[in-house]
Amino acid sequence: MSRKVLVIGEIRDGELRNVSFEGIAAGKVIANGGEVVGVLLGENVNQAVNPFFDYGADRVVVVNHAELKNYTTDAYQEALLQVIKAENPGGMILGHSALGKDLSPRIAMKLNTGLISDVISVEKEEDDVVFTRPIYTGKAFEKKKVNDGIIFATIRPNNIAPLEKDRSNRGEVTHLKVEINNLRTVIKNVVRKATKGVDLSEAKIIVSGGRGVKSKEGFKPLMELADVLGGAVGASRGACDAEYCDYSLQIGQTGKVVTPDLYFAIGISGAIQHLAGMSNSKVVVAINKDPEANIFKVADYGIVGDLFEIVPLLTEELKNVLHVKQTV
Ligand code: FAD
Repeated sequence: MSRKVLVIGEIRDGELRNVSFEGIAAGKVIANGGEVVGVLLGENVNQAVNPFFDYGADRVVVVNHAELKNYTTDAYQEALLQVIKAENPGGMILGHSALGKDLSPRIAMKLNTGLISDVISVEKEEDDVVFTRPIYTGKAFEKKKVNDGIIFATIRPNNIAPLEKDRSNRGEVTHLKVEINNLRTVIKNVVRKATKGVDLSEAKIIVSGGRGVKSKEGFKPLMELADVLGGAVGASRGACDAEYCDYSLQIGQTGKVVTPDLYFAIGISGAIQHLAGMSNSKVVVAINKDPEANIFKVADYGIVGDLFEIVPLLTEELKNVLHVKQTV
């Protein structure tokens, strides 16, 4: 059976995040030949229309409204419910991001439907759409399908490959007017923390430090390594608790869940709560002076030794290799 699927785009600094493109790929499987519609909510989001088409959307619904400038639960909920009413979809996808985690259960409750959250793969098995999601902090995986109602899921960033970019794919753009009333919260001003570099939750390469880095300064070699690789810096809670870095870098059960192609765990013991946030990384490299450290159990490559000797050597070597590659 084919069905219409809405993919709710997520925009940051005017640009669609990768998880929105991954959502289109997931949406194609759920749609089973039906229409995959990108949905853009914001104050002025017209610039995100073509990127949605580039990654395979069949149509794009645009909702521009002053109250959607910044994310608030009430405003986005009201707007999205009106889009759903107008479009009557058979499936819906959001990213399993802060926004998706906040909005999706409320929408599911309002529609009186189920929700499969934190999905890492979507497959077609005969006539069913089967979703895989990690459970027990990543120690096991469960497969789920929806028997009745809207197929509604949130997808974990970096797990479902987006479709090949195709700038020639274009379709109809529907502008929808929505009413947003009775807001309980209004955002007057957003004060952003000064951050630079790659967004942790979408980074393909992450260099994470733990209590073993011993100080704020101890993070500098890790930042240099991340710079050379074009990656992001992350941390264990041990490092955050010790005030070596900001909590926004924390990866784990109570931090961010990441799935990069390459994850460096440096001076991190590998507590179960940390593994919950990174053990689905495609390749894990651990550097630890303790050969018995738990992190080696999930590592594909392990280096036993002092991080303060190893990391600068690795950075130098990678600089040479990458430089040679670029100049060949
Ligand atoms: P440690 O366990 O102290 O490990 C430091 C490591 O560095 C050691 O293995 C040591 O051998 C190595 N080392 C030291 N010096 C060097 C050196 N010079 N060179 C190489 N290696 C060196 N933790 C998280 O990370 N994320 C979470 O989201 C999280 N949530 C939690 C939720 C709850 C409810 C609880 C109870 C705990 C949570 N924790 C979380 C904390 C977790 O249990 C660990 O305490 C924490 O992960 C430890 O951080 P760490 O590995 O950096 O420090």
